[in-house]
Amino acid sequence: MKSIQQQLLELTLQLQASGLNEGSSGNCSIRDSDGFYITPSGLNPKAMSIDDMVFMDFMGTIQSAQKPKREPSSEWRFHHDILKSRKDVNVVIHTHSTFATTLSLFRKDIPAFHYMIAVAGGNSIRCSPYELFGTQALSDAALKALIERKACLLANHGMIVIGRDIEETLNITHEVERLCEQYIYALQIGSPVILSDKEMDEVIQRFKSYGNWNKQ
Ligand code: 13P
Ligand code: ZN
Repeated sequence: MKSIQQQLLELTLQLQASGLNEGSSGNCSIRDSDGFYITPSGLNPKAMSIDDMVFMDFMGTIQSAQKPKREPSSEWRFHHDILKSRKDVNVVIHTHSTFATTLSLFRKDIPAFHYMIAVAGGNSIRCSPYELFGTQALSDAALKALIERKACLLANHGMIVIGRDIEETLNITHEVERLCEQYIYALQIGSPVILSDKEMDEVIQRFKSYGNWNKQ
């Protein structure tokens, strides 16, 4: 079994290799028994080793195996707040991926233009109001946008995706990025038809027995 630090390093490298993040943009965290490991601040994943992963508990105590010690991601507040309040969540991914970020510039929720919007847990993907990166205000806004959801946009910034394990969280991240791309294409043509709440409720019911989406 790989250590959490190893899994986190592989996850952040994968986010970069698949083009979802560039340079030091974005970050991720994985729950451990009484806290979580989070990527260090301001580093390119290519320059990270497992010792650069920072441990934090839910009292905000930080442990770094590296000397001099690494700072946790500047976004540790929303990672901490999500993992503390959402017991169903074990992995948090934050990206500045191109299509999600492009839509976030408009500060609008993404409606159910495609049934796969349900992978984020409901009939829309919310966009949280703009707040400065690394602040408690951003964390508070993000947590609100994530109520009963597994993904949200952050205005003029990017997106957050949460899930029960690495595989689910990564799958939702790729799917949401693809949905954002499709929605941007659709908006070039006009106003796409939006699925009704009833139609989306049917999808959400279906997902309970389809693939691995939204299993509890
Ligand atoms: P960190 O390098 O501190 O994780 O910050 C990147 C980021 O995406 C801030 O929102
Ligand atoms: Zn960011």
